[in-house]
Amino acid sequence: MQHLVIAIDGPAASGKSSVSRALAQRLHYTLVNTGVMYRAVTWYVLQSKVEPSDAKAVEELLQNASIECGARDGQSFFHINGSDGGDALVSPAVNASVSKIASQTYVRRKLVEMQRCYARNYHLVMEGRDIGTAVFPDTPYKFYIDASPEVRASRRSGQGLHDSVVQRDAMDSSRKDSPLMIAPDAEVIDTSFMSLDDVVSAVLKRLHQRGVLPSGA
Ligand code: C5P
Repeated sequence: MQHLVIAIDGPAASGKSSVSRALAQRLHYTLVNTGVMYRAVTWYVLQSKVEPSDAKAVEELLQNASIECGARDGQSFFHINGSDGGDALVSPAVNASVSKIASQTYVRRKLVEMQRCYARNYHLVMEGRDIGTAVFPDTPYKFYIDASPEVRASRRSGQGLHDSVVQRDAMDSSRKDSPLMIAPDAEVIDTSFMSLDDVVSAVLKRLHQRGVLPSGA
C-alpha cells in the first residue's frame, strides 16, 4: 500500500510543530518531528564529549551507537542507546549546536534513510526543514509554515526557551546539504497573524480539496 506523506517545513519557531501535531490528530496519521532526531543526535554527541564540528568523530560515534526509531499510537520515537534524551533536547547547549550537527552529510544521510522508512508503514505528517525538498520530494502535499523573525523570537522566549532562532535559520538555510528552502510546489502559509486553529483549518481545507481524508474515513 502506498502511504501518504504530508510535508510540513519551515524555519525555527514558525509554529510548524503545533500545526503538525493538530493535523496528525485530525487525520489520524503518524506524526514524525524530524527536528527531534537531529536534536537527539546532538544531545548524544555533546554527552559523549565529542566536538560537534568534528564530522569524522561524529560519524564514528554514530556508527558505534544503537539507533532505533519507530511509532506507537501515532507517535514516533527515536532512541540512541536506549534513551530519547528527554528535556535535554531543548536545552541551550543543544539549541546552540544542532545546526552544526545537522549540516553534516553523514548525519543527514543516516536520518533521512530512517525518515523514509516510516512511509513504508504509516500515513505521515512529517515536519522539518527538508521534507518537501529532499526527504519526500515526490509528495504532492507540501506546506511551508512561516512567520516573521520577530514573531518567531517572541514565541520561543514565551516558551521560556533560550534559542537564537535567527542564527539557527541562517545556518540551516546556508548549509550545502539540503538547506532550508521553500519547495517550488509548496503552499506557503505566513502564520504571524493567524491563530493555530486558522492555520490548521487552512491546511485541512487544502488537503480535503485534494482528496486527503482522515485515515479510515
Ligand atoms: O525543528 P527544530 O527546531 O526542533 O529542529 C532543530 C534543528 O534540526 C534545526 O535547526 C536544523 O538544524 C535541524 N533540522 C534539519 N532538518 C530537518 C529537521 C531539523 O536540519 N528536517
